Amino acid sequence: MDFKNTTLKEIHNKLVNKEITPLELVKQTLEVSKKELNSNFLITLCENEALKSAQELEDKVDINNILSAIPFIHKDNISTKGILTTAGSKILSNYIPSFDATIATKFKDAKSILIGKAALDELSMGGTGLFSFNGEVRNPYDNERIVGGSSSGSAYAVAKGIVPFATGGDTGDSIRKPASFNGIVGFKPTYGSISRYGAIPYAPSLDHLGFFTNNVEDLAYLCEATYEKDIKDFTSIENNHEFIKNINSVDKKIKFGYIKQVDDIIEGQLAKEYKKMYGILKNEGHEVVELDFNEDLLKAIPATYMMISFAEGVSSNYNLDGIKYGIRANGKDYKEIIKNSRTQAFGETVKRRFIIGSYQLKSENQELLLAKSKKVRRLIVEEIERLYQKVDILILPPTIKPAPTVKEVYGVDIEQQKNENNSFIDDLLILANFNGMPSITIPFVKEDNMPIGINLNAKPKEDLKVLQAAKYLEQIINDNFRQVGDFNE
Ligand code: GLN
Repeated sequence: MDFKNTTLKEIHNKLVNKEITPLELVKQTLEVSKKELNSNFLITLCENEALKSAQELEDKVDINNILSAIPFIHKDNISTKGILTTAGSKILSNYIPSFDATIATKFKDAKSILIGKAALDELSMGGTGLFSFNGEVRNPYDNERIVGGSSSGSAYAVAKGIVPFATGGDTGDSIRKPASFNGIVGFKPTYGSISRYGAIPYAPSLDHLGFFTNNVEDLAYLCEATYEKDIKDFTSIENNHEFIKNINSVDKKIKFGYIKQVDDIIEGQLAKEYKKMYGILKNEGHEVVELDFNEDLLKAIPATYMMISFAEGVSSNYNLDGIKYGIRANGKDYKEIIKNSRTQAFGETVKRRFIIGSYQLKSENQELLLAKSKKVRRLIVEEIERLYQKVDILILPPTIKPAPTVKEVYGVDIEQQKNENNSFIDDLLILANFNGMPSITIPFVKEDNMPIGINLNAKPKEDLKVLQAAKYLEQIINDNFRQVGDFNE
């Protein structure tokens, strides 16, 4: 089945009307997945498990549950009982969890069928899809370009129509940026809405789980199935909404806003497209407000993110030492075993981030560096709160260019790039990780025949509102903007 242009509801109806059985559907999906394996999008194909689940569901599709018998893919940082879970890292390349992450349990309860575990930049650190231990994942539209990351395999799978949805993780932008690069929908809920119990962390105060889909409506089902306060995750919260019932309602007058200092950087055709969108919204009776964001704070986003996430990253992954988990190297004592295991099994990005993170965690540096970056985070959060006194929905550009080429990515000195004046433009989506607000990227326009998305945000806990706005914009975009079409075009 072509999942690219099909809603979950339509797949469900086909199953209910017996136009296709769960087993047929899963067999087709496995076949397509196998053909795609050389793209490295999967670390593990769950063939036997998927066939078994489908078999059990033959003639038992739940007519009251849209997710019943729907094939999907988990990002491989989500623990799955009895199934390899690597977080994209060699150090976990033999780790088989003895328990399910809460989100894995949720989809088991919903009787959705897990097809595989998707590649990610090691330990969710990175934004390219080039750094999963099993190999590079490239952009499905253009093999010379990156797919983006860290949730690279999940984005690839949905963009290519291999599965109708996939889970992802988002610490800085790892769902919402690849969504932009691949012409799909990527959503990160309010912090804590979906339990992270059993998700291998990057930086817990910024980590979120979320989804990739091909349309906004499908998110309503996924959110209702997964939002729940979970006693196993002390950061989880109650944030229930009647998504399915209300996803199509939209306020007559929405106050949209964009940040002046951000839109000033957008150039050429894309700038025109944003203006065109604002014009349409105004014509439809909505407000579009230009907002000011303290420029020093905007410029502080990349550094603040790096400081906080690197420190939390090294601290929350202290257990990946070759002793408790995963690959173990030789050594004369436990210290040497840890050192050798980590040296051999971690990639460059993880090593660099762990070193910088550890430096900040040294007691003499904590006050000077880490505490300071947390204060800056607080100031940024207050600045965002100030914006929401004027608007309901904040519009941001998830990316201002199509996915870069692999060559470009390898050619850039990362630290150098971050020192450039406008480098915040590439890290804007991190705003939503700093304050935990719900944030969604949907397909917007095309440039060089590559997709570029648009990103919408609302106040924390206003998940329904942001999805309603996204559903509304999705329609406007379908009617008024040119997008990248199917692969067979
Ligand atoms: N690109 C960001 C990084 O390199 C985002 C990572 C993420 O959201 N997991 O850390």
